[in-house]
Amino acid sequence: MAQKKRLLKNFPEKVFVDRKVWKKERTRRILKNVEDVPCVIIDNVETLINKYSRKPDPVGEGKKVLWITEQKGDFVKPCPCTPAYLGCCYYIINLDLNCPFDCTYCILQHYLTNPLITTNVNLNDLWKQLDEFLDGIKGRFIRIGTGELADSLALDHITGNSRDLIAYFRGKKNVHFELKTKSVNIDNILMEEPEENIVVSWSLNSEEMALKTEADAPSIDARLEAAAKVCRRGFRIGFHFDPLFYYSGFAGNYDRVIKRMFQAVPPSRIAWISLGSLRFPPFLKRIIQNRFPKSRMLIEELVPGKDGKYRYFMPLRKKLYEKTVHSLRKYGGEKILLYFCMEGRNMWNEIIGWKPRGKEDIEKYLSFPQEMS
Ligand code: SF4
Repeated sequence: MAQKKRLLKNFPEKVFVDRKVWKKERTRRILKNVEDVPCVIIDNVETLINKYSRKPDPVGEGKKVLWITEQKGDFVKPCPCTPAYLGCCYYIINLDLNCPFDCTYCILQHYLTNPLITTNVNLNDLWKQLDEFLDGIKGRFIRIGTGELADSLALDHITGNSRDLIAYFRGKKNVHFELKTKSVNIDNILMEEPEENIVVSWSLNSEEMALKTEADAPSIDARLEAAAKVCRRGFRIGFHFDPLFYYSGFAGNYDRVIKRMFQAVPPSRIAWISLGSLRFPPFLKRIIQNRFPKSRMLIEELVPGKDGKYRYFMPLRKKLYEKTVHSLRKYGGEKILLYFCMEGRNMWNEIIGWKPRGKEDIEKYLSFPQEMS
């Protein structure tokens, strides 16, 4: 089964617009990009969410529609990471919520109470909040991105958010802004002048696991082709191998992708590469059982970690990381900047060769790696 290289040709099947934002210029811009799609103005979002939540597959049904509204609370938050493991001092911007791709392991299937794919149009509030936030972190160097509760670029041909975000962060010296994606939706990025503090990142996996667990997302080849184009445009690129899967032949399969990755993007233009192994909270297993009953994730031998999430037993995680890091350094060199998502200090020490004292150390390491080695 070949994965499709496409820009969500069937999305959205329907658009719902919050009456409060109906007349906003930004809403009109979005609606122009989906003008052939049926559109309904909504006064009461609770009724709409309840209707979708009662469907047999709320997550799957919610992925077919676009909900245009405004964010009421904070856009900017520290990444919650997970208790008892080391965080990486990342900050998240919740501008879009949810994602039209359908990865088996996606935590958003449970995490978001609203199943609709949501885009917020009150960007003036976002800019104000960001101004205050950046004012408050003076003296630090932080990383921030839009790709935690959404795919940063999957809807970009509809919203155009990437261009506004790049314009906002351009030249801000104490911030790395990251757009993280599995999409090939890069036309807006290619229209922008590159800037060293803007990083466009792709989540990767082995071809086999991408085919089995990342439904509707573009193939690994297509993602690498997009990364190569964005790199040639002059942007720095990030990569995320998360979740890594432990299975027979994993080392060779990840090695092949890593080799191709460095053929597409030279090490000197890679800002960072993160690694994380398969993990999920117990409640997600029930969702996977319902939505993906044939998934191999249901038969993995996993044990509860210190945070209660199921993970591979420590020796298997170590082996998974050792082999992957070996391939990364074999093709990318020793200087390539690697970090873990949700692992402990000992894993950092044994695999990366550096023991952070805490997450503040990691913040510095990811901002000024040459000073920390
Ligand atoms: S691309 Fe990311 S956000 Fe979208 S379904 Fe997959 S894991 Fe979830």
